[in-house]
Amino acid sequence: MPRVAVVGAGFAGLAAACDLQRSGLEVTVLEARRRVGGRVRSATLANGAVVELGAEWVEERDRTVRDLARDLGVALAPVGIGFIRREVAAGTPVAEAEQEEAERVTREALARLDDVTARRLTLGPFVDNLPLRDPQRRLLRARLQGSYGADLGTIALRSLGGGFGTEESAGYLRAAAGNQSLGEAMARRLGDLRLGREVVTVGWSERGVSVLAAGGEGVQGGTEALQAEAAVLAVPHTILARLEFRPALPEALGRALAALPMGVAAKLAVATAAPPPLRARQDVAVPYWCWTGRGADGHARSALTAFAGSRAPLETLRTAEGDPGPWLARLRALNPDLAFEGDALLKDWSVDPLARGCYSAFDNPSWDRTDLLSRPAGRLAFAGEHTAGMESGTMEGALRSGLRAAEQVRAILSAARPGRQS
Ligand SMILES: Cc1cc2nc3c(=O)[nH]c(=O)nc-3n(C[C@H](O)[C@H](O)[C@H](O)COP(=O)(O)OP(=O)(O)OC[C@H]3O[C@@H](n4cnc5c(N)ncnc54)[C@H](O)[C@@H]3O)c2cc1C
Repeated sequence: MPRVAVVGAGFAGLAAACDLQRSGLEVTVLEARRRVGGRVRSATLANGAVVELGAEWVEERDRTVRDLARDLGVALAPVGIGFIRREVAAGTPVAEAEQEEAERVTREALARLDDVTARRLTLGPFVDNLPLRDPQRRLLRARLQGSYGADLGTIALRSLGGGFGTEESAGYLRAAAGNQSLGEAMARRLGDLRLGREVVTVGWSERGVSVLAAGGEGVQGGTEALQAEAAVLAVPHTILARLEFRPALPEALGRALAALPMGVAAKLAVATAAPPPLRARQDVAVPYWCWTGRGADGHARSALTAFAGSRAPLETLRTAEGDPGPWLARLRALNPDLAFEGDALLKDWSVDPLARGCYSAFDNPSWDRTDLLSRPAGRLAFAGEHTAGMESGTMEGALRSGLRAAEQVRAILSAARPGRQS
């Protein structure tokens, strides 16, 4: 039976591995962390509230996530608040109707653009030229800068309408036991998952693939070599660009990976003394936003979560230092009606050595090269949110990319052994 190595047990790698195993192939997954899920990371606060320090929102339209949850028997629960419409805190209020109008104006302006202009523009000047009132524009800018995790002057306008949308979803969900439970349920289906194995070198030829792993997160020493007939590389592009390939990856792919920008983001979660009223509040100055939501039982969960994306707010909030204090002080001022209790959890993904950022932040040159990122090289297939086109930066995109990479591996193997059923 052919052996396929899958590198990375985030949603992309797990989806690829489960799908390959289901089609009868022997699969080994190597993951550098001591846990699965990658950028999907759930945590439990001292008061028992389950919070998300990585991916949080599942949209109604995220079919792959919803089908997977149903298949795995993992319950999804409504969050009870919107992702796009927010109350402006410490600034001129923007009524919900005005936010809806801004969404419509944005969609209409997008629809009017010719293809050439749309492929040249970035989000910054596009938003600046929309016929909006200043408070509407400030709120839109703050929200998009956070969601894309980068300065809007760099983000390709083509990204708009993808994962971060221009329209409020009919509803938002998250896994009742934490989104990481989806990854854990996928992992339970796998026959050979090896945690704490950080892949450092990938050799590839017409005959097969060899993968060399060293001790990963918290593991001292110990290398492991694995021979496989094909491999799926499902690590963030920031990591892929730094792995040693023998021979080197095709030059165009190597350049595309090195040039693809990575967004940065941090999250903070803190327990509240009592179930808080539902809210989604945006600080347009720093900028960052915070929200409460429903828990698995449908009642308000006793927690507040905050998200800040792009360099400037992370510097203002001093998240890289690992001390939640400065951000917590601002959250107290923004939510004077809430009493916080226990230790706050802070996660800055820009300083996570196995992610080096939150998700890809496509500029225009990188958009023009998206096809390269998902194209196999010899017996190597590539998965991960950065290969998911319009769905990049989402769990939905990561899962779909894993399924696509599994399909590519089956094609690679059947081309290598014509006539063999796999
Ligand atoms: C703060 C934040 C908020 C987000 N919010 C949302 C949201 O609300 N909704 C949504 O849909 N998406 C959201 N996302 C995006 C979503 O988390 C990602 O798109 C998705 O989880 C990426 O999955 P992946 O499998 O491509 O990568 P990852 O999850 O990063 O998986 C890659 C895996 O590879 C491992 N790895 C790295 N290097 C090596 C190595 N050398 N050897 C072996 N293993 C290695 C990593 O440890 C990791 O487990 C958010 C992300 C962040 C960071």
